[in-house]
Amino acid sequence: MSKIDNILKKDTFSREDIVSLLGLQGPDKTALFAQSARIKEENVGNRVFFRGLIEFSNICVKNCLYCGIRHDNDAVNRYNLSDKEIYDAARFAFQNNYGSIVLQSGEVETDSFVKRVEKILQGVNRITNGKLRITLSCGEQEKSVYRRWHDSGAHRYLLRIESSNPGLYTRLHPGAMHDFRRRLDCLYSLQETGFQVGTGVMIGLPFQSLDDLAGDLLFMKQFNIDMVGMGPYLEHVDTPLYAFRDELLPREERFQLTLKMIAILRILMKDINIAATTALQAIDKLGREKAIKIGANVIMPNITPGKYRDDYLLYQNKPCTDENADDCKTCLEARIALADNEIAYGEWGDSGHFKKRVTGDK
Ligand code: SAM
Ligand code: SF4
Repeated sequence: MSKIDNILKKDTFSREDIVSLLGLQGPDKTALFAQSARIKEENVGNRVFFRGLIEFSNICVKNCLYCGIRHDNDAVNRYNLSDKEIYDAARFAFQNNYGSIVLQSGEVETDSFVKRVEKILQGVNRITNGKLRITLSCGEQEKSVYRRWHDSGAHRYLLRIESSNPGLYTRLHPGAMHDFRRRLDCLYSLQETGFQVGTGVMIGLPFQSLDDLAGDLLFMKQFNIDMVGMGPYLEHVDTPLYAFRDELLPREERFQLTLKMIAILRILMKDINIAATTALQAIDKLGREKAIKIGANVIMPNITPGKYRDDYLLYQNKPCTDENADDCKTCLEARIALADNEIAYGEWGDSGHFKKRVTGDK
């Protein structure tokens, strides 16, 4: 039996095992994908949950070195959706049976921002009779704020660790306003508050090694995370990290590495929700379908009003910025059928892992 067969028949992987799996090519890589696809089918089924993504504001106080909407990028036209625009988008998700939405924004910690999010959560729950699951992705906040938002009707929260290696994290997030320890504390606060907690990393960053990525997957497992969104890092010309573009892996390699990360995570954490992120599609037109085939089970169709999409460019060549919510839906239905999966319309699609975590059934 080959070294890879020996690793793949294990129930869990060491750091060295994961580094070996991340380096797979050819038939060995195909064997990894076949195994993760089988585990997906057995544990979460060949079904995909939709989360309508509403990018409600690009105003951000942070300066993450990779992000196109970082505070110091003066070329960005800053916006805030009106309450009506947010409610219209939520209504679209509700009427089209999406089951849940994600409200995402830059990071702001003012009292008025906290109150506004509270009001929006209550408003969305009012107009949809509490029938939509709401995920928030609004960055680092005080635990009391997470509690207020949870009490106002948010059930899930996405906060990527970005890198679980404190040294790499600090290199990508320099200065006093960023702090790895606070990032971790926020993830713990979210878990303690009762959220289904999602995290994730970018793949193919400058200075990032396969060993770092193996550490990221083990971090997710150790942290007992419920949901994960991982995508390839993509350059943006107006960011400091662009200076290191010549050191990056070719885009196709970042793409393949992301698929391997998803496949390994599906084997490590059989019942979590894993997103097929939009960044995959920026490299390969069928990127999200390929991720669905080998382990992902969530897609986040963008339902932000079309006119704002050019102002939420985290990276260049972000796909679908010239579309509206209806176009996204039709296009995705065809794509998911291509991946031999079906859309679980009208279902919340809570993470099975979360249910077991809170009932102690694990
Ligand atoms: N501000 C919130 C936060 O940082 O958690 C939510 C919005 S932020 C734009 C969402 C995610 O976009 C980040 O967690 C980051 O991983 C991802 N992102 C930012 N810039 C990116 C880039 N250049 N390539 C790929 N993903 C990127
Ligand atoms: Fe702001 Fe999030 Fe971008 Fe960092 S990743 S600059 S917190 S929007």
